[in-house]
Amino acid sequence: MPDSPRPPQPRVLRVAVPTPLRRLFDYRPCQTPPPDGWRPGLRVQVPFGRRQVVGVVVDCVQDSDLPLARLKPVDGWLDADPLPDDWLWLCRFTARYYQHPLGDTLHQAMPVLLRQGRALASRMREQWQATAQGLAADDARLRRAPRQAELLTMLAQHPQGLAAQAILAQGFSRDQLKALAAKGLVACREIPLTAATPHAGRLLAEPPLPLNGEQAAALAAIHQRLDGFHPCLLHGVTGSGKTEVYLQLIEAVVERGGQALLLVPEIGLTPQTLARFRRRFRAPVVALHSGLTDHERLDAWEAAASGRAPIVIGTRSAIFTPLARPGVIIVDEEHDGSFKQQEGLRYHARDLAVARAHRHAIPLVLGSATPSLESLQRARQGDYRHLRLTRRASRHAPARLELLDLRGRPRQGGLIPPAIAAIGETLAAGHQVLVFINRRGFAPTLACHACGWLAECEACDARMTLHRQPPMLACHHCDKRRPIPDACPECGSADLRPLGSGTERTEETLAALFPKVAVHRIDRDSTRRRDALEAVLTQVRRGEPCLLVGTQMLAKGHHLPHVTLVVVVNADAGLYASDFRALEHSAQLLEQVAGRAGRAAHPGRVLVQTLHDDDPHLQLLARQGYDALAERLLEERRAARLPPFRFLALLRLESPREAAATTLGGEAAAALRRWLAERQLAVDCLGPVPAPMERRQGRYHLQLMLAADRRSQLHEACAQLSAWLEASPEARRVRWSLDIDPQTL
Ligand code: ADP
Ligand code: ZN
Ligand code: ZN
Repeated sequence: MPDSPRPPQPRVLRVAVPTPLRRLFDYRPCQTPPPDGWRPGLRVQVPFGRRQVVGVVVDCVQDSDLPLARLKPVDGWLDADPLPDDWLWLCRFTARYYQHPLGDTLHQAMPVLLRQGRALASRMREQWQATAQGLAADDARLRRAPRQAELLTMLAQHPQGLAAQAILAQGFSRDQLKALAAKGLVACREIPLTAATPHAGRLLAEPPLPLNGEQAAALAAIHQRLDGFHPCLLHGVTGSGKTEVYLQLIEAVVERGGQALLLVPEIGLTPQTLARFRRRFRAPVVALHSGLTDHERLDAWEAAASGRAPIVIGTRSAIFTPLARPGVIIVDEEHDGSFKQQEGLRYHARDLAVARAHRHAIPLVLGSATPSLESLQRARQGDYRHLRLTRRASRHAPARLELLDLRGRPRQGGLIPPAIAAIGETLAAGHQVLVFINRRGFAPTLACHACGWLAECEACDARMTLHRQPPMLACHHCDKRRPIPDACPECGSADLRPLGSGTERTEETLAALFPKVAVHRIDRDSTRRRDALEAVLTQVRRGEPCLLVGTQMLAKGHHLPHVTLVVVVNADAGLYASDFRALEHSAQLLEQVAGRAGRAAHPGRVLVQTLHDDDPHLQLLARQGYDALAERLLEERRAARLPPFRFLALLRLESPREAAATTLGGEAAAALRRWLAERQLAVDCLGPVPAPMERRQGRYHLQLMLAADRRSQLHEACAQLSAWLEASPEARRVRWSLDIDPQTL
């Protein structure tokens, strides 16, 4: 190959550095350039203020706004090769779309060890093998060294070679290996140490299931175009076999030499899910979950970037996994709230998946039983292909919701007599019951019956939750804890009583009502130990009658074949909330919970307790299901000019001093309104107003909402707003952030 002419050495490197400042910083190259010269995407160590930080070269240029002599040189480069192209593209896109500083975006999107300056070159391990000479050697040569002879025999039995660690674990020594190597009988290779090694031969370890008609049609539709951007909404009721469609799609993509990236909600990446993928494929399945060490995470990243990992499964942040040969991106439960990061870099992994699939020109599958209104609307408009699975793989259709009127009925642990009776009948029939209550702790708060005092958090506009296991008052917003008082702090009365029910109280009540069956409570408190949840679920899957009491941890993803009755303690939380998405989210949650019932041999029942059984939305959901409600909600959103028919951004401001946040918010809004008027941009600017929970963790929260019909105009306004804030000296005392496409207001 002819030598391509080397580009001239740049005089200036423009480097993205992890700081909140929305700009690049110029440096001079250091004395020794990397072997292939300076290129964008190289990680460099640079002096920044008084610190040393890891930055990424974004541009190599000849000039700077500053005199060259005043620029500091970079301290050195960290990798000979730039970071992966597709990853750099995604980070730039993310920074631009979410109006987040590029330096911090790159920093957040790389594995911790890379942030800290570790080399990307994969960690290697020694692999020892017998040489041809070693295989042919007769025993005579090693007569005087019997251990070496044994070692050689062992290696000869493993033609693929053995890792040094495995050899040492057999009681052999390094000296013995070296002695054999000196005689030319064995040799050592360095191979990358990663979770994934390429598979050889057949891809599948177990045969795929024969698909039903709808599954086959959906798969065929996706197959039609594996070589272009081809977004599909796989809209299938719970238990309709979406996962089987993913499995067979991944199979097809990997057979063609591509890589598959599957995103699942935080709650969805269970050992059970992973096991299902690992059972199916002989090829390695790399899982990116919170249990990984930093080293394992880097290895997985590297395995994906190099193409050695054909299948990558992970939660939200896995969208930032580089892929050498991207073949498909799948987002399971695409409506799930955990795909949106709610602090710092506030990205939505599903939306980035769409952008990424478009960039790579590959198919994209968004799967859900209860699609977000955003995705549903795009499917209705024809932007996404709308694929439906209406039948369950098992015999029984998902159960309809039966509404139970809570008004005027006595409650025990939150449950009214008809619900308790149904629980008793189900247990007597030998089945299992799931009681869903979206409140952990014993009771939502503690109240004084003499004077009406309620236990409130000092730092938040919120009540403290009463816990009994262990006993305390805890704020679920800031995690402050207090001992339970013996007497009312206001009036001294000892008549303090729990108000309402949480999981602990419902568990206690059910254990008293049904002493013969096991009651398992599943919430964040009961599953702090890593394997606690799996241990309980394994026991539950054995099938003996039992009661499960849990929060939304239980609502999603889990296949509980013996549950035939689901009771929702209170469905009202989302009905009259101020957030315009509350109803959508609570309908999705109800439908997911209901989907736990009757997934196997027996049909299911779902009882929903409510104070508003005549609420039209709830009735529509109960009678006609999520799809009908979603249609209605879309019409309401259109009429109210809300997403997905309009685009929103939120400026969030917070400060320990209310006045500081209010003043800055007011000035920023005024400046923005002037600017919008000058440019005649159709962007509405609403507020600033106090956030729904104004005081949180001792800080005041304020927000300014921007709304526009055109996304480009919204982005222009946001760019102007952040530039104004960055230049404002007041803004140093107030924490502010932009939230593009906010999921909660
Ligand atoms: P979803 O992801 O839509 O909730 P799953 O893929 O988990 O549904 O499927 C639900 C159950 O149905 C699983 O136990 C699965 O093994 C089974 N299943 C899925 N597809 C088929 C099929 N084509 N034939 C038989 N069983 C199937
Ligand atoms: Zn009192
Ligand atoms: Zn608090």
